[in-house]
Amino acid sequence: MLSKLSTPHLYSNTYTDNVEGFLLVYNPISEHGISILNKEAAFLFNLIDGKKKLDDFFNLAKKESAEVEFHDIERVFNDFFHSEIIFFDSPKNKNIIFQKPPKHLGVWLHVTNQCNLRCKYCYVRKTNEKMNKKTGVKAIQNIIRDAKKNNFKKITIKFSGGECLLEFNYVLELIKLTRTLAKKADIKSDFVVLTNGVLLSEKIANTLKEKKIRAAISLDGLQKYNDNRVFPSGKSSFSYVEKGINNLLKIKVPFNVSITITSKNIENIPDLTKYLLKRNIPFAFNFYRENPYVKEELEGDDKKLVKYLREAYLLIYNNPPRYSLINGLLDRVTFSKPHLYTCGMGNSYIVVRQDGRIVPCQMTLEKPIGSIDDLDLIKTMKDGNFVKPIGLTVEGKNPCHTCQWKYICCGGCPLLTFKQKGKYIVNSPCCAVYKALIPEVLRIEAKRLIKYGIRDNEGHIGEMPSQLPL
Ligand code: SF4
Ligand code: SF4
Ligand code: SF4
Repeated sequence: MLSKLSTPHLYSNTYTDNVEGFLLVYNPISEHGISILNKEAAFLFNLIDGKKKLDDFFNLAKKESAEVEFHDIERVFNDFFHSEIIFFDSPKNKNIIFQKPPKHLGVWLHVTNQCNLRCKYCYVRKTNEKMNKKTGVKAIQNIIRDAKKNNFKKITIKFSGGECLLEFNYVLELIKLTRTLAKKADIKSDFVVLTNGVLLSEKIANTLKEKKIRAAISLDGLQKYNDNRVFPSGKSSFSYVEKGINNLLKIKVPFNVSITITSKNIENIPDLTKYLLKRNIPFAFNFYRENPYVKEELEGDDKKLVKYLREAYLLIYNNPPRYSLINGLLDRVTFSKPHLYTCGMGNSYIVVRQDGRIVPCQMTLEKPIGSIDDLDLIKTMKDGNFVKPIGLTVEGKNPCHTCQWKYICCGGCPLLTFKQKGKYIVNSPCCAVYKALIPEVLRIEAKRLIKYGIRDNEGHIGEMPSQLPL
């Protein structure tokens, strides 16, 4: 209960910016994401100094408009408090957020080593091997058994390869089995096919829709700019992928496009963005990570990354779609809620190879840490965490622990950091790019919230503008 003597305080490291006449407020330890304040609410917010009491705010607001009542002030500060952008007596204990055990298990099922493409940056050693029925069934049974035992409430299975649509009937069988077992275990389940898009026929699109399966399609650029992703003959895959995308669009199958940015497609990122926005397709930008099978130098340099991503961001800012793109605009930086680890590796993410061996993440397919026959796959996952020291969070990385963005960035992909810097306890090699672009991603989300006046439908981030009759 607030009174005239209540004194609001700001959280440390709060970030603010002006966007289209509104004030964007981001508190790094808020689970509510960013808040957007209108002019009057911003006036009050900007007066907070940890000393003024609500009565002082009331008197100052009264000077601006005689109509203001104390309960208006009370309501706005209540709003601020519930949006977690201020506190009164003591700040929210961040351990309450960080000590919550994960409830959502991500599963990456690598159903085949075969693929109909030969992408230049592929991290899969292509062979004829694929997951057999016995292995797939056992994987699903044991994953659900251990998810239940370890209190997970939801699993998302991503089918991958190779090209998982080469084994589409098998994928459908596994989905059917998962749905039955997950329901019995009272665990929610959902499914995504990770595909290069070439095989997305009308028939497959219809089945995806009917069975409520999402798709994530890899596409890196328009026409020749997608030529990191070619057929074994060297032929371009663009027109095939575009056809697949059109098949999904025609019957409204939910999907997104996953873009890997390399030195070869970087300058096409703005045009690709325009193309996707025009078609209302959600998308995500990932930075290319080197792997043992790539001969060429494919990394985009930092200056170019910032330049072309800024161009793409401007297009989005000027015409934000209704859906939130915020968690896909900057590689591994995710804004949904504060977190201590960049990814689920070792905590909430299991990768099962075609032969039933478990690996820590999809980029370490050659380094198994156990198998689906293990007694507790969650334990296998935890024991197989390759980051050293085990349990290292962003708080243990230097200089990340002092960074304003630590709970959304967490220091980037640990695998990449180790590869380039030889240790895990330091910041990402992409740090400068992240720091340059995080404020711009926040601005895009703010613009979207302002444009549509919505609390959010997909990205679970953002607040309605606070209203005050001044
Ligand atoms: S589509 Fe995927 S698995 Fe196939 S070659 Fe390309 S990156 Fe590799
Ligand atoms: S990598 Fe850079 S931006 Fe990310 S948390 Fe560390 S210091 Fe901050
Ligand atoms: S370690 Fe890197 S590549 Fe592996 S899951 Fe995490 S972010 Fe992704």
